[in-house]
Amino acid sequence: EATKNWYAHYPEEIPPSIQYDEKPLDSYLAESASRYPEKKALYFMGKELTYQELYTQAKQFANYLQSLKLKKGDRVAIMLPNCPQAVISYYGILMAGGVVVQTNPLYTERELEYQIADSDAKVIVCLDILVPRVSNVQEKTNLEHKIVTGIKDYLPFPKNLIYPFIQKREYNMVVKVEQSPDTHVWESIMKTAKAEYKKVKINPKEDLALLQYTGGTTGYPKGVMLTHYNLVANLQMCEAWLYKAEQGKEVVLAVLPFFHVYGMTTVMNFGVKQASKIILMPKFNPEDVLKVIDKQKPTLFPGAPTIYIGLINHPDIEKYDLSSIRACLSGSAPLPLEVQEQFERLTGGRLVEGYGLTETSPVTHANPIWGNRINGSIGLPWPDTDVKIVKTGTDEEVEIGEVGELAVKGPQVMVGYWKNEEETANALRDGWFYTGDMGYEDENGYFYIVDRKKDMIIAGGYNIYPREVEEVLYEHPAIQECAVVGVPDPYRGETVKAFIVLKEGKQATEEDLNRFCRDNLAAYKVPRRYEFRKELPKTIVGKILRRQLVDEEVKQQDEQ
Ligand code: AMP
Repeated sequence: EATKNWYAHYPEEIPPSIQYDEKPLDSYLAESASRYPEKKALYFMGKELTYQELYTQAKQFANYLQSLKLKKGDRVAIMLPNCPQAVISYYGILMAGGVVVQTNPLYTERELEYQIADSDAKVIVCLDILVPRVSNVQEKTNLEHKIVTGIKDYLPFPKNLIYPFIQKREYNMVVKVEQSPDTHVWESIMKTAKAEYKKVKINPKEDLALLQYTGGTTGYPKGVMLTHYNLVANLQMCEAWLYKAEQGKEVVLAVLPFFHVYGMTTVMNFGVKQASKIILMPKFNPEDVLKVIDKQKPTLFPGAPTIYIGLINHPDIEKYDLSSIRACLSGSAPLPLEVQEQFERLTGGRLVEGYGLTETSPVTHANPIWGNRINGSIGLPWPDTDVKIVKTGTDEEVEIGEVGELAVKGPQVMVGYWKNEEETANALRDGWFYTGDMGYEDENGYFYIVDRKKDMIIAGGYNIYPREVEEVLYEHPAIQECAVVGVPDPYRGETVKAFIVLKEGKQATEEDLNRFCRDNLAAYKVPRRYEFRKELPKTIVGKILRRQLVDEEVKQQDEQ
């Protein structure tokens, strides 16, 4: 049974329980703007915005949404990389009483269509280069308005002239930016909209702030419903954990994308509440990140193992001054010890591992940053976060040290999955959220993850659900059967491999399948390896034995 010994290992600065603010998440932007109006809020490729400017533009955005007759609870999608517009629109949507739906700018039409249709979003904010994709989706859904903006809108001269060309190359875009009236919506909002909006009464414990899609082992992604209170609570826990952070003084490096709840909470919302300066990176490129650390001197740098691995392996890392970094939280996948040690040696800061999920806003565990951490452990449960390990499929707790399914309870736990009572009832029972991750607790109250939801693949920090890739492959006319699994990969942790059985008399090459997948899936989900087989191993009832495929692959890799 759970020891709750974990509190004994908290540094004395961290309280086991916190009084959470019962107010809307966006109120923190108003507070930072009133306390620190002239302080820099955002830094983006050479251009800076103060808290006053950020707040004013968010209000203008809220005003514009309300002029579109947005009602409380209406969903508004954001399809942006990390850039000022991503922060402005996020807070603007919340102020207007809307619910944010984050989408990944790398999504294909098919993926975007599913999310827009499922969330029933009426408005989307997107980049100019994404307009052709979004317009096609608009024809098939109830999406009414697109608010289009360009990266260049927030670049200083002369970068604003050059960037559109670089961007096309970087995003591998061959599309022509449509010169439709849409292209100028953002600009005109910022020129003409008043910085006033109608206050909407929010009940933080009930009203949603975010509908955040996460893959499901059962196929299509599910919309995780997170309230203002869920996000506020996780944010306050995060502040408690980072107790050495100083209001108005920190510089936070935003490499994690804000369209995932991890970057949203630990970087964007944290930065705004603390009135930190947030350094926005629209994509991860080790050299750019090293340069920015050297010049902008960030103090906090939440990330994922692949990000830190990419940096420490850069050949010129020693040339850069990385000494500004004080604290880093690594999540989303296991953090190798070597990486932790090398990163700490190179920066002089602290790098600790944590754990969480979209359903928990996201953080539930972390190692103390300035305290006793244990290698290989995800650390201690956060304040007010109760944890138990149960025999899978039951509510029965196992003994200390024994592996079982991790379940958590706390103010950061979602209210459920959007329009999906069945999945909600499976995952949430008596306030406990059953994570699907397998792990154990040691006698000191530190937790360890040994395996995860049976099939999910984590490649380069991205979650990939085999079923989704398989569904695409099954649409290929030559494929009779397929199984997609994660196989070990030295750099990405895991990589996607597809085992294929072709129909009699039909032909398809690896190139054909690769092209087909690229047309229908975001690049990170596309299998990197294919293997053609005559048949796939199955159980007696015809379930494909994925585990066996992975084991065979591992054996083959070992032999090489
Ligand atoms: P997401 O909902 O995208 O945040 O993904 C959550 C999943 O990431 C969890 O269910 C875990 O399987 C995995 N995960 C997160 N942090 C860790 C960690 N420190 N070690 C191992 N797996 C992790």
